[in-house]
Amino acid sequence: MNIKTFVFWVLSFIFVACSAMATTISDVRLSAFSNGTGRIVVESDAKLNSKIFTLQNPNRLVLDMPKSVIKSHVRRKEFKKNTVVSKVRFGKQGSDTARVVFDLSRTVEESHFMLPPEAKKGIWRLVIDLKPNSKPVEKKAIPQSVKPTTPKATTVKKQESTSGLLPFSKSKKVVMLDAGHGGQDPGAISKAGRYEKDLTLKMAKETKKLLENAGYKVVLSRDRDIFISLRGRVKKAHEAKADLFISIHADSAKNTSARGLSIYTISEKASDKEAAALAERENKSDILLGMDLDDYQQEVSSVLIDLAKQDTMKESRRYADLVVKEMQRTVQLLPNAHRFAGFAVLKSPNIPSVLLEMGYMSNKKEEREMQKSSYRKKLGQALVRAVNAYFKEVGN
Ligand SMILES: [Zn+2]
Repeated sequence: MNIKTFVFWVLSFIFVACSAMATTISDVRLSAFSNGTGRIVVESDAKLNSKIFTLQNPNRLVLDMPKSVIKSHVRRKEFKKNTVVSKVRFGKQGSDTARVVFDLSRTVEESHFMLPPEAKKGIWRLVIDLKPNSKPVEKKAIPQSVKPTTPKATTVKKQESTSGLLPFSKSKKVVMLDAGHGGQDPGAISKAGRYEKDLTLKMAKETKKLLENAGYKVVLSRDRDIFISLRGRVKKAHEAKADLFISIHADSAKNTSARGLSIYTISEKASDKEAAALAERENKSDILLGMDLDDYQQEVSSVLIDLAKQDTMKESRRYADLVVKEMQRTVQLLPNAHRFAGFAVLKSPNIPSVLLEMGYMSNKKEEREMQKSSYRKKLGQALVRAVNAYFKEVGN
């Protein structure tokens, strides 16, 4: 080995060793300005791969920093409450992600950027600016338990190109498969007395295997015959940090000759009457829990769309179109197979979500097909091809 090769290997070793080490957070500072805006500054000894999002009820900003350690003097620091941030809490998320939660006195829009070391040698600074939200918060009293608790306004993606702040990266893409209905909610029932809930569970379990073989991490919203509320399903997708959410269903219609697969994405205005009626049927699942219908519909129609961020909706539609493209080579589709309606289960603000109606439980022939594992495999394989194409298109 000549000296050049030796130096190269030593440097490579140092580089690898350093990158494996945790980032140290050496300070967190708060400030508030007279115009109502606030600022959070986080100092670290390396560039942070942070994930920042806000939550409502109560208002919070969450800062997750993978592979990071917060120095004890920072954790013990007494933070003076200001007009924007009322409290700072430190915690951990998983084994090596440091989490800081900032309790906010109001809803804010956050923007952030990373400042590389200059005056202060070796110290990186993450600057998070908090601007009072111009839109007043929906005050309409929806019971606390049913209010959306999903992260709102995650702007990491948009910011990264200008600030150099990298998004939280996972090694495997996470796909959540949501088997529709379950427990006391059978979903549609076929002429032969078979339940939609059993069919969707089979499809979810089988597709899970196909996706896992293709290298994805797959989480099921349920793996047995239990009832989960629509909100509970959305919450699970967030807990799993899903990159894509696919809800699996099978439709039914009075017209027993109706058949064909369709896929739905969210929209305040349904694409047609059938889509609207379908969303109403699927959304009824939660009414079984005794939830008030008025509150429910109000939420579905307004807050729903506010929450579903434009980018996420665009990505949901992109995936749905890919599914149509893959499925049309495989099975019979409904005309205009990609449809829109206000499904409660598709309301994640930052997870692209689609709802698949495999076919009609009310159509004797199609229902028999759907009960065959070979048929479901064809559908599952088309879903996997669409997942592959989707992640290829949206990149990392
Ligand atoms: Zn259904």
